[in-house]
Amino acid sequence: MKILILGGGISGLSAARRLSQFYPRAEITLLEKTNRLGGWIESEDSGDFLFEKGPRTFSAARSPTLLQWISELGLERELLFSNPSASKRYLWHRNRLKSAGSLFWPHAWRLLLEPFVGKGKEEETIHAFATRRFGKKIADLFFDPMTRGIYAGDCRTLSVKACFPRFVEMEQRYGSLLLGMLAPRKKKKFPGSLFTLKRGMQSLVDAIVEKLPIEIVKDVEIEFLYQRWGRWKVETKSGAFSADAVFSALPAHALRELLPEMPEIPSSSLDVVNIGFLQRPTAMKAGYGYLVPSTLKEESLLGMIWDSEVFGGPCRMTAMVSGDSPKEIALDALRRHLGIHQAPDRLEVHPANQAIPQLGVGLKEKLLDWESSLEGLHLLGNYLDGASVDQCMARSEKVVKNYFQKKS
Ligand SMILES: Cc1cc2nc3c(=O)[nH]c(=O)nc-3n(C[C@H](O)[C@H](O)[C@H](O)COP(=O)(O)OP(=O)(O)OC[C@H]3O[C@@H](n4cnc5c(N)ncnc54)[C@H](O)[C@@H]3O)c2cc1C
Repeated sequence: MKILILGGGISGLSAARRLSQFYPRAEITLLEKTNRLGGWIESEDSGDFLFEKGPRTFSAARSPTLLQWISELGLERELLFSNPSASKRYLWHRNRLKSAGSLFWPHAWRLLLEPFVGKGKEEETIHAFATRRFGKKIADLFFDPMTRGIYAGDCRTLSVKACFPRFVEMEQRYGSLLLGMLAPRKKKKFPGSLFTLKRGMQSLVDAIVEKLPIEIVKDVEIEFLYQRWGRWKVETKSGAFSADAVFSALPAHALRELLPEMPEIPSSSLDVVNIGFLQRPTAMKAGYGYLVPSTLKEESLLGMIWDSEVFGGPCRMTAMVSGDSPKEIALDALRRHLGIHQAPDRLEVHPANQAIPQLGVGLKEKLLDWESSLEGLHLLGNYLDGASVDQCMARSEKVVKNYFQKKS
């Protein structure tokens, strides 16, 4: 049996590992456009600073698949948990950095009403859902910047069901988000609520690749993908491939270029600005970092993560920027928002173009419809079951398992 995997990000790599376990004798080939594996996961250690260009923080409570893989790959000793102070988050509000807690208190009474709000009947935007359950103030103050921080997106267009399915599930199950959050949960197994890997997230990619008994072809861009006599064909500049089954782990926009009948999924672009100081600036605060709401049109900063405050180590932070001149925007935020005037010892800008899929209301249904019309082509990636690394890996596992069960 011949299997092709398109794309060598975490979705493609986790599918490759599971497929090679289910089908030890299959001929499995993974095709990747660039000369490296990992996709958005990329860590860079300059000696003084370990920078993550992509994902770096994971919620211990919401990453069961990722944690299970870390243990399976023998990386448990690499786990690094967040400092308790990382639970403190800030918002840029009325020209000041305010703790989210202090902004929330005047509106806390709204929580008492929330369990009495009825269940939603139709798919809604994140903002409409939050306004219905908590009122517009809370939607604007918290759900807006949270959506920017996670999806670099607009809570007034993105679907709550597609982006935060957990909220909709809680509403359906408990009739309330508040009651859902108070529901008894399993005892916390880990010391911190967030985690990362000590030597960077790239070590997860390297550990998967090290044990991957498949053929990996890098520097090969897929140019055509089509079906002929029931088999999928893939064409690249350096040759053609055909297979009994194809698993696409390409970004949505790249797959749509190959299959124009696929529903279009917009995606957001941003710049990641990694900043390092050899000496921790005295103005540095403890906490996770801060977010900027979309209502402040003059601000091009989405938010900033204070990496070293979360996980320790030399002073590092990451600004997420949407706008021209990302370096200047980040430096301006350091001065104006944080009161840090000393020049960073290292600053790197990494563009993240078309990085995060933006699922508006109704788009997921369209995608599921289209997916059900495909035969022999299996969709992986960050646009169907959520964009987090955990959700990408969970999707790869689910799709591969379904394929295996159907075939056996
Ligand atoms: C800046 C940033 C920060 C993030 N932070 C977090 C975080 O803290 N926590 C978290 O859980 N998630 C985070 N995410 C989300 C998460 O990192 C991504 O959703 C996830 O890594 C996507 O993995 P993937 O394998 O599906 O896609 P990708 O990583 O996009 O991989 C797709 C692969 O396909 C290849 N490819 C593209 N076109 C072709 C072609 N034509 N032919 C062959 N190959 C092709 C690409 O080169 C790439 O290697 C972040 C994302 C970004 C961009």
